[in-house]
Amino acid sequence: MPEKFTVLADRFSCHAVPIIPAAAGASAGAVSDTLARPLQDLRISLTDRCNFRCVYCMPKELFHQDYAFLPRGALLNFEEITRIARIFVACGVRKIRLTGGEPLLRKHLENLIEMLAQLKTPDGSDLDLALTTNGSLLARKAQSLRDAGLKRITVSLDSLDDATFRRVNGADFPVAQVLHGLDVAHAAGFGPIKLNMVVKRGMNDQEIVPMARHFKGTPFILRFIEYMDAGSSNDWKMEDVIPSSEVVRRVAAHMPLEAIEPNHPGETAERWRYLDGGGEIGVVSSVTQSFCRDCIRARLSTEGVLYTCLFATSGHDLRALMRSGKTDGEISAAVAHVWRERADRYSELRSTKTAPAATDRKIEMSYIGG
Ligand code: SAM
Ligand code: SF4
Ligand code: SF4
Repeated sequence: MPEKFTVLADRFSCHAVPIIPAAAGASAGAVSDTLARPLQDLRISLTDRCNFRCVYCMPKELFHQDYAFLPRGALLNFEEITRIARIFVACGVRKIRLTGGEPLLRKHLENLIEMLAQLKTPDGSDLDLALTTNGSLLARKAQSLRDAGLKRITVSLDSLDDATFRRVNGADFPVAQVLHGLDVAHAAGFGPIKLNMVVKRGMNDQEIVPMARHFKGTPFILRFIEYMDAGSSNDWKMEDVIPSSEVVRRVAAHMPLEAIEPNHPGETAERWRYLDGGGEIGVVSSVTQSFCRDCIRARLSTEGVLYTCLFATSGHDLRALMRSGKTDGEISAAVAHVWRERADRYSELRSTKTAPAATDRKIEMSYIGG
């Protein structure tokens, strides 16, 4: 079978329509899972498409020109996304991050931001509304996103060296355009803007110190992310992971650092401050130090499938509930039921070597949203 059909078959066979419990109807309210983790954070993937082909996420050998991306009608429309977001907010979600694929490829994104920015938590507060982007279209879009009500952005940036950047993004995209986008976003009022650098041994680890040096003392907060075994297409190997402890050692050898307290309990990034007052960096040790114990995050795929873990092999089809005429009360009861049953802790199990076998197909980052 040609590759594109194999991938599609995997993608469509891995989710089921969730059960609506008998007592559906009443507003769900805050909900916690089997490990007492509340549902507070939702990532929504707006598209499975991307104009980059990062070697660790959508390698171009697999995501080639014949690759079958989702058809337009499969995507949730803006009304559906806003409806689902409202339902999750009623279940306790306070923070929504828009992602993908590349979310800035989604047409009229500003209209969706405007709709989401109007949602309020049950205590009347604004949602913490954020977006993760590869930055390629930021110079063009930053001001309109800000005007529409977007609060925060995170930009992925894996190298300052143009040749390395072009190679890693797999699309020969120049780094200067992303750096220009950062300046435009800063001028538009976003800040502090976080920068995510995925570090992979032999791919860009020579860029750790130059990146730290470049962004030290600027309004941008650089975070080093351990290369993860997400998805099934990046041929992940443990030897390719540079542990955060080594990243901190390498930076501190040139620019001394001290550890500082997290901004809030359960923060995924560990924070380090330059001793000379030049700001801070973060490290996200997704592989070497699991943070499953504090994981309060759900993910919604581009086609409305709910995943309760980045490493899930199956999800729950909320689009089917919406498109079959279920009420908000019924859908929120189904979401609450899924979350109450949740027991995911893949990273913890990975470190004890009891994680699902490599033959279990995991969901791609570009589809589920990183
Ligand atoms: N396209 C946008 C971007 O790149 O920022 C948003 C989607 S991307 C899937 C979200 C984040 O996941 C990015 O910061 C990316 O670097 C990260 N990511 C993708 N694959 C990864 C992997 N195997 N390990 C660690 N991080 C990864
Ligand atoms: Fe695209 Fe982001 Fe994946 Fe890179 S990490 S291929 S920019 S979705
Ligand atoms: Fe959360 Fe799953 Fe990651 Fe653990 S492995 S932190 S449960 S997404």
